[in-house]
Amino acid sequence: MKHSVPFLDLQGITLRHQAEISAAVQQVMASGWYLNGESLRHFESKFARYCDAQQCVGVANGLDAITLTLMALKQMRGWADNAEVILPAHTFVATALAVSRAGLQPVFCDVSAGDYLMQASTAASCITPNTCALLPVHLYGKMCNMNEIMHLAEEHGLEVVEDAAQAHGAEHQGRKAGTWGAAAAYSFYPGKNLGAMGDAGAVVTRDTELADRIRTLANYGATQKYHHQYLGINSRMDEIQAAILSVKLDFLDADNAHRRKIASIYAQHIQHPEVLLPYSGETSTSVFHVYPIFCECRDALQSHLQQCGISTLVHYPIPVHKQKAYDHLPDSKYPVSERLSDTELSLPISPILTDDQALCVCDAVNSFGCI
Ligand SMILES: *Cc1c(COP(=O)(O)O)cnc(C)c1O
Repeated sequence: MKHSVPFLDLQGITLRHQAEISAAVQQVMASGWYLNGESLRHFESKFARYCDAQQCVGVANGLDAITLTLMALKQMRGWADNAEVILPAHTFVATALAVSRAGLQPVFCDVSAGDYLMQASTAASCITPNTCALLPVHLYGKMCNMNEIMHLAEEHGLEVVEDAAQAHGAEHQGRKAGTWGAAAAYSFYPGKNLGAMGDAGAVVTRDTELADRIRTLANYGATQKYHHQYLGINSRMDEIQAAILSVKLDFLDADNAHRRKIASIYAQHIQHPEVLLPYSGETSTSVFHVYPIFCECRDALQSHLQQCGISTLVHYPIPVHKQKAYDHLPDSKYPVSERLSDTELSLPISPILTDDQALCVCDAVNSFGCI
């Protein structure tokens, strides 16, 4: 009995809601109104309510959501060009690119070996007189310890922007991203826990003034039509994506619950002396965008699983500070992040992965002979 297990079956995930999505798209098409309309307003208020934040600004993608938040804070707080933003070295490159695009300086900090996330104690050692903000990333679906990060920020008068691109629905102490720092940036890239059928992103915040500034900057810096107060950009979530996301948001909690069930099957059934499972101390708070395992012979394990018909990915093979694009930054060592890049392997996990498929993945991992 040999199944093939894809890493992510986006077609299957989408087609569960084919009728509702078709009706939503049809409605936008018939309305003749394709940008900045009712569907966007509706999704913004629905997602703000879901996050328990007052404001949500729909934008074109997750990278823009982080960039626009930093651009707005830079203007509002009068940060200098190249003021420093502290972010984890172990993240997707977009987190750092947003800092650079906002005219600020990325300063990497190593992540915790326990949960692979940015920690207040490590970030503290990166603070200089030029630091303006902390940019924690809720990687793999698990929120950072925001309580400690907010304490550190308050102590030093820093802003906190959360990269929540992988953490739709995740909570820390019962609070979602966007209710802790100044704002949280979400991505609705198709493969995310809440995914559009194209690009989309959003900023969630409780700060009305910040939300207004982001909205303005995303609309060519215009406070009213043809009156351009700032050097803005064009970053819009279109009506079709907003309508699709409103349909899918209703299923996010159930989808996340399913991901947690798959994660518990992995935690229970994977038993291999060479394979480390993700930190399980507080797995209940993770929404498992990714299920990461760690193995010294990662590449051999990946080929073994591929031979068993199981597709996996690596998140991420090259740490951000080692990317060519960041050659110009001072050379530093981030040992935990570098080890994670060498040993991490992401197992299939999704709202439609079956228990049988998950058990088949466990058997395949358990049968690996590490040479
Ligand atoms: C996906 C992602 C982004 C960027 O989102 P896009 O919508 O692809 O621009 C940013 N940060 C993290 C951690 C991500 O996973």
